[in-house]
Amino acid sequence: MTRRIEGFVAGKSAKATSGREGDVFNPNTGEVQAKVGFASAADVDAAVKAAANAQPAWGAVNPQRRARVMFEFKRLVEAHMEELAELLSSEHGKVVADSRGDVQRGLEVIEFACGIPHALKGEYTEGAGPGIDVYSMRQPLGVVAGITPFNFPAMIPMWMFGVAIAVGNTFILKPSEKDPSVPLRLAELFVEAGAAAGTDTTGVLHVVHGDKIAVDAILTHPEIRAVSFVGSSDIAHYIYQTGAANGKRVQAMGGAKNHGIVLPDADMEQTVKDLLGAAYGSAGERCMALPVVVPVGKKTADELRERVVAGIEGLKVGVSTDAQAQYGPVVSSAHRKKIADYIQLGKDEGAELVVDGRGFSMQGYEKGFFIGPSLFDKVKPEMKTYNEEIFGPVLQIVRAETLEEAIDLPSKHQYGNGVAIFTRNGRAAREFASKVNVGMVGVNVPIPVPVAYHTFGGWKRSAFGDTNQHGMEGVKFWTKVKTVTARWPEGDQADSSFVIPTMR
Ligand code: NAD
Repeated sequence: MTRRIEGFVAGKSAKATSGREGDVFNPNTGEVQAKVGFASAADVDAAVKAAANAQPAWGAVNPQRRARVMFEFKRLVEAHMEELAELLSSEHGKVVADSRGDVQRGLEVIEFACGIPHALKGEYTEGAGPGIDVYSMRQPLGVVAGITPFNFPAMIPMWMFGVAIAVGNTFILKPSEKDPSVPLRLAELFVEAGAAAGTDTTGVLHVVHGDKIAVDAILTHPEIRAVSFVGSSDIAHYIYQTGAANGKRVQAMGGAKNHGIVLPDADMEQTVKDLLGAAYGSAGERCMALPVVVPVGKKTADELRERVVAGIEGLKVGVSTDAQAQYGPVVSSAHRKKIADYIQLGKDEGAELVVDGRGFSMQGYEKGFFIGPSLFDKVKPEMKTYNEEIFGPVLQIVRAETLEEAIDLPSKHQYGNGVAIFTRNGRAAREFASKVNVGMVGVNVPIPVPVAYHTFGGWKRSAFGDTNQHGMEGVKFWTKVKTVTARWPEGDQADSSFVIPTMR
């Protein structure tokens, strides 16, 4: 019988009542390995009610005890690392070592959340006026929600709920319906962590599965105060607009097309190694992948192309459980087709298809969603395949003549998530980092995902809203500030005035 995946509300499995469901595939074999029940608006409402009931008590737990739950959660996730990584790979298709990284990067945000008492300390001004002190505090918003994509089913939920819960909110998670099992396991472990830490967390983290119907129920629910979203840009824009129209605080991260700029003085051997990993790792299904490389000057471009082609020949594509494989299948057959269509379009647009990965087939796994690495050269900025996100193992070379031109390309692109420069010239790198119109920059770092105590967020169509994920920006997003002005005059009476008080 096919395995069924249901939601998780108030510490218990919660069967979806909509009668609608989705297929969860094994991307290695192409088979449906489970069915996931899709939540109705009423199912979302039930989860929100449970979260609303629990929030006052959870918000009143002192920050140090909330942090102890986070420490316990970290311990439990570490203890279940192999189980989580294998489960993640089996639904997503990324290789197990990469899945461990997915879980680990999420855990690093949990480690940040373990320090929440420090991050939540407010500000205080003694003597702002005669007998007057001013202080501010950060309070939780109440019930909040996160909607996450398929490509990091462990890390991105933890980016969101790690901080949101630690500051005292209760949380509704709507993970991707394509790989829903790991987010569900994380919620179960969180409830277990509460029990181990002596604090009831059954009402703190709930999971509802589904598609647009569940998402719309979240966006329009009057009790939900804030929504964090990560996914593709058109949906991110829709989430931002609809959430805001319903009075919610919204941060909505979208798609990407990150560029790697290679200057003539770069360490070519290292740069090509970095590029191969960043372009083809996780089958290119990373929002911080490097699908575009911009060599500066003809000599750099020719050398780079030759080395990348040789590197591709040595790449091993395999099933997600193969420890020798560098990347596995993509998430679905529809996504595989979309990537193949983009490769055809690139050819039709006049780019030079140097390596074509479309013919790749995995022996013994012919029905799996595999696609080999592809490489394009002489891609031009006006091409559709350059302007749009492909989200697959396809690297495009766009040749530039000068550093200025190389800064211009990512700066003018509709997306502005990440960018990297490879050079030995500190002055050029510094100028690049300062001028480029992109949110996250790597200098000789191909995938510059910031550490958990800094913050993650792109620019332009890569993010709608004005606060980033995790770090202190996350604390700000998930809390509201209250500022208290208190007067304790020395005598019995303070002057009263009919004009606005000033600090003259
Ligand atoms: P997606 O936009 O298809 O789905 C994201 C979430 O939105 C899922 O939970 C999905 O169920 C929901 N959803 C899908 N269609 C919807 C609709 N019509 N209305 C409301 N909700 C809907 O994205 P995906 O394919 O799961 O993930 C890949 C995308 O996410 C890529 O574009 C990638 O660049 C982006 N991404 C961005 C970041 C970032 O931080 N900027 C990080 C990871 C992934």
